[in-house]
This record gives sequence, structure tokens and C-alpha cells, in this order.
Amino acid sequence: MTAMRANSEDLRELYRELILDHARSPRHFGKLPSATHEAEGINPLCGDKLRLYLEIDGERITDARFEGSGCAISVASASLLTDTVIGMRTEEAIAFFDALVRRLTGDQEAEDQRSGNGLDLGKLRALEGVREFPSRVKCATLAWHALQSAINRNEAPATTE
Ligand code: ZN
Repeated sequence: MTAMRANSEDLRELYRELILDHARSPRHFGKLPSATHEAEGINPLCGDKLRLYLEIDGERITDARFEGSGCAISVASASLLTDTVIGMRTEEAIAFFDALVRRLTGDQEAEDQRSGNGLDLGKLRALEGVREFPSRVKCATLAWHALQSAINRNEAPATTE
């Protein structure tokens, strides 16, 4: 068990670096003039606020950007989101959102039981560390709520409350 523990500590460190990197140098940051869909996300608990822009061509997300301000986790999560969803079909992106939220809210067992249906979260596993801090889960999922709103063309801002 000791070796396992060391491994997971190493991973934790790696993920922390990944989050800090995305928070310091967010990818796809700024307005997207060609956006076809957009939504605002607000997390009143932490003061995170962002606007997500999507360019959707048919069923496919062809570009994504975001702007706004917030804590490191919310910015890193939005940056990872844009990196992840570009090129995805909208329904794929929504499925990804669902899987990520289930992971972060601790419904891991239900997730594991879905044999053969597990999505590879890839770099987004970096966000799993927030599971131990329920208030930070809202920071990590804010951009994803905005993604869902943007795709569904919801007029009201997506809020974590
Ligand atoms: Zn936050």
C-alpha cells in the first residue's frame, strides 16, 4: 500500500502543476467573434464569473473560448474545458459534462459500475482532487454548467447555486 500511496501523491503533484499551468496561462481565453452559442456562468460562493463562447457547426463544436475571472480552479477548469470540447459533437460534450460532474460529486461507484461505458477523462482527472472539498466542486464545474447552458441555448446565466 505504501507504493500505491507514493504513486497517488506523485499524480496529485502532477495534477496540481497542470491546474496551476492552466490557471496561469488559460488556453482559448478571450472573445470568440464567430460564436454561435454562448452562456454566462456564475459561482456566487467563490465569486467566479465567466462567459463561454462556442462555435457550433451542425452537431460539432468547432471552436470554444471563454473570458471572465475567478479562482485558479475555475479558470483552469474552463481552460481544460475549451481544450477538451473543441472537435466534439455537442451530445458527446454533454455526456462528458455528466461524467465529470458525477466524478466530482463523488458518485464514483455508480460511475465504476457502468461497465464499458466509462469515459476517459484524460487531463480532466486533474480536477478530481477537488472532490474532497465540496465548495471547490462548484468552481471546477462552473464552466461545464455554462457549456450545458450554451448548448441548450438557456437565456439565464448558469449558476452553481
Ligand atoms: Zn472558485
